[in-house]
Amino acid sequence: MKSNVWNTAALPLVLLYVLHVSALPDTITIGGIFGSQDERQKIAFRYAVEAVNRDRSILSGSRLIGEEIELSNDDSFHASKKVCGLLRRGVAAIFGPQSEDTANHVQSICDTLEVPHIEMRWDYKLTRADYSINLYPHPSSLGKAYHSVLLTLGWKKFVILYEDNESLVRMQDLLKERDFLPIVRQLQETQPNDYRPLLKEIKRAQITNLVIDVSAEKLPIVLRQAAQIGLMTEYHHYFITSLDFHLIDLEDIKYGGTNISALQLINPWSPELLQVVEGWRLGELRFSRLHPQELMKMTTEAALMYDAVQLFARALANLDRANTVDIGPLYCEGDKPWQHGNSLINFMKWYSSRPPNENSYPPPINTPYRTSYNYSMPRRNPSVMEIAAQIFGLTGLIKFDAQGFRTEFQLNIVEMDQKETLKKVGTWTLYGGANYTRNQVEESDAVDTKLMNKTIIVTTALASPYTMLAENSTALLGNDRFEGFCVDLVLEIAKLKKFNVTFQLVADGAYGSKNEEGEWNGMIRELLDHRADMGIVDFTITFEREEAVDFSMPFMNLGISIIYKKPQKKAPSLFSFASPFSLDVWIYMATAYLGVSVLLFILARMAPDEWDCPYPCIEEPEELENSFTLPDCLWFMIGTFLCQGADIAPRAVSTRIVAGIWWFFTLIMISSYTANLAAFLTVERMDAPITGAEDLAKQTKIKYGSKAGGSTYGFFKESNIETYKKMWTAMSNARPTVFTKSNDEGVQRVSKANGAYAFLMESSSIEYEVERRCDLMPIGGLLDSKSYGIALPPKSPYTGAISSAILRLKENGKIHELKKKWWKEKRGGGRCKTGPAPPPSAELGLANVGGVFVVVTAGSVIAVFVACCEFFWKARKLATYEGASFSKELMEEIRFSLSFGENEKPVRKSPGSARPTDTDSSTIYSQSYGYTGSKK
Ligand code: GLU
Repeated sequence: MKSNVWNTAALPLVLLYVLHVSALPDTITIGGIFGSQDERQKIAFRYAVEAVNRDRSILSGSRLIGEEIELSNDDSFHASKKVCGLLRRGVAAIFGPQSEDTANHVQSICDTLEVPHIEMRWDYKLTRADYSINLYPHPSSLGKAYHSVLLTLGWKKFVILYEDNESLVRMQDLLKERDFLPIVRQLQETQPNDYRPLLKEIKRAQITNLVIDVSAEKLPIVLRQAAQIGLMTEYHHYFITSLDFHLIDLEDIKYGGTNISALQLINPWSPELLQVVEGWRLGELRFSRLHPQELMKMTTEAALMYDAVQLFARALANLDRANTVDIGPLYCEGDKPWQHGNSLINFMKWYSSRPPNENSYPPPINTPYRTSYNYSMPRRNPSVMEIAAQIFGLTGLIKFDAQGFRTEFQLNIVEMDQKETLKKVGTWTLYGGANYTRNQVEESDAVDTKLMNKTIIVTTALASPYTMLAENSTALLGNDRFEGFCVDLVLEIAKLKKFNVTFQLVADGAYGSKNEEGEWNGMIRELLDHRADMGIVDFTITFEREEAVDFSMPFMNLGISIIYKKPQKKAPSLFSFASPFSLDVWIYMATAYLGVSVLLFILARMAPDEWDCPYPCIEEPEELENSFTLPDCLWFMIGTFLCQGADIAPRAVSTRIVAGIWWFFTLIMISSYTANLAAFLTVERMDAPITGAEDLAKQTKIKYGSKAGGSTYGFFKESNIETYKKMWTAMSNARPTVFTKSNDEGVQRVSKANGAYAFLMESSSIEYEVERRCDLMPIGGLLDSKSYGIALPPKSPYTGAISSAILRLKENGKIHELKKKWWKEKRGGGRCKTGPAPPPSAELGLANVGGVFVVVTAGSVIAVFVACCEFFWKARKLATYEGASFSKELMEEIRFSLSFGENEKPVRKSPGSARPTDTDSSTIYSQSYGYTGSKK
């Protein structure tokens, strides 16, 4: 329908322009219809008309006359009569009213008589009447703006506080978005203008983001009451849908530091707008019309009225170029409509979207009302009709789409800044969405400024050395009551960021854990209730806590470990001489001793050189004797092993190799033993019955526990690792309970239990305790790895600033310095310093001396090989000497060697010779004499 009107209008317009004769009447009346509350609109209308008349370039030959009538909302009969009376006087357009009931009425009359009806009110209808044009952005566009801004702000869960059901039309985009979890609440007053019960309910629900969709009149009341009940702190963020937030007096709410975001169609501080308002003021003074100060402020609707009159005047001027426009009386009772209404309304829509082509019809007028050309339309390929000569009014670009809806307007995103004034932080457009212009540096500067000189409440709990009561003979007050690592750390951060601090002890003494109902206690509870701005102590960053509150960058890293009583010194054992070697080394040594002795015995039997004349005085012995009987071998080996020697010595190469290797073995083993024995006898050994968590889990004699409700407790409770699960079962079933109220209590218990209790505690705290309590020691390594951080309320604006301060303090070594001060120096630090710990003495195992056994084995193999060579060589000699076969001689030799009972070997005479030529050496014997074989 609309596009048909548009198309049918275009052709006659072109023809009319060709035949153009200008003939606008001298005076042109336009009607302004107002409700009793629309005083500001009346003023805007009055001075918009005056502005058009003042600007002779628009309607050069005519004067606009604004006819104002007032309608009451609840009397439609009289309203119709008044509108019809106005039309009878002959009007070119009707502006207003603002009230929906009367506006619909006026609209239907204008539609019938084809008089342009220009509106500037919020209207959710999806279609516009043919003769109606509304400069107010359509709710669907506003809904998109809200949606886009909240997405950019990263809101998820929020409350929508609305006044009437029409609000829900605007909120549709927010309600449909899957990423949002809105809670919708209608503003209800228990007593007139009292919204506190509802606001308290929102506070109890701990929702910190609120969308407020109430009229500009009610907005200050709602915000003031929200501030009164503590719903306007720096942790709350409000999004105000009213386009007139600039009118609100921020006095009552500005000190809370609340973030407030809003959208604006006008720039209330622009020089053009301020000039218009000044014109109102002077004009009204001229006529001695005194108005309250409040009325002399520009609202969005008043600015739209101003723009509407301007738009109308330009459209009429353009129509005049194309047509002879006459304006006469119109009768509601009659059926004759105004013949120019259709053209005029189309000119208004068309003017605001005409092509910039100078030759196009009608030619653009030279207007001082800012006109600029914009050829680039975001996201769309501009059609010729869309590339427009644009009018910028007080409400920005005035442009309509084919349906007569305002299009391509821009909304400014404003926020209340640290100076408690509204500041533009970005813009929103239909095609570009929300665009924040503020950068990261500006944002962090804004937070720093917000923090400056503010008093931050820090909740803490007593835990050495993090927060402790200061030691002083006189009663201390305020922050002086506390000292410790965390106290110093917060003061350093406060110095960096220039804020003040008030320390307060958490009421229940707990750090923060969730009960079965999901309720938090301790410091977390205080942060969630915004009773404190920061929480610090040995506060472990855990997944569950991180979900509930914000954490700064960690300031210390640690893990769970065990603190246990140092074992008492052990009385030296009667058999401590055996300690230098482990049992398996002793067994191996015994085996080696037996093995090498037997080997020596066998090799000695095989080796010809080991057979000797028993009595050197006998020149021609009948029998030869071997000195290495088995007992002699054993004696020889033990004698040399104990460095005493023996009265026999090997003579053959093979037996000498065995003996040499054994002496080498002896040398290494005795040296190792001597060296290690010295360590064993001088160092006091204090063996702990446990070496780590595994040992604890395996036994039941030593009880163990942790601080109840702490992160260590949580670690064991939630762990899926078998050992820790087992430990949790043991701990939770133990009676009396093994859990303590604090780390201090746990440490005391360890100290008193004399080895019957071990305490699972964080390594940093263990480090502190063992510096001072010399009867305690850490056991084993770390079971996990985690960190301490400063907790802040969820979405705290200060998290980034605190993190950056911690980073700075880490980098400049301040945190390290503080740790040294509170761990090693203050409050008895360094008491248990005992110089470097003696190296632990450990018995030597096979890993340490295994190589010597390998050498012995290798030497033995070589000796066996050499013995075989000697054996074969002798058998071959004998075979040659006796003229017998080699194999026979070999078998004979083997047989004798294996008859271990025989220790005397008969000397064999050579055939044909009485005696050997040389009997002095065993070599000659072995070379020249054989033996007669075994005595049979
Ligand atoms: N640092 C722990 C916490 O934040 C307390 C001590 C512990 O559980 O070992 O809960």
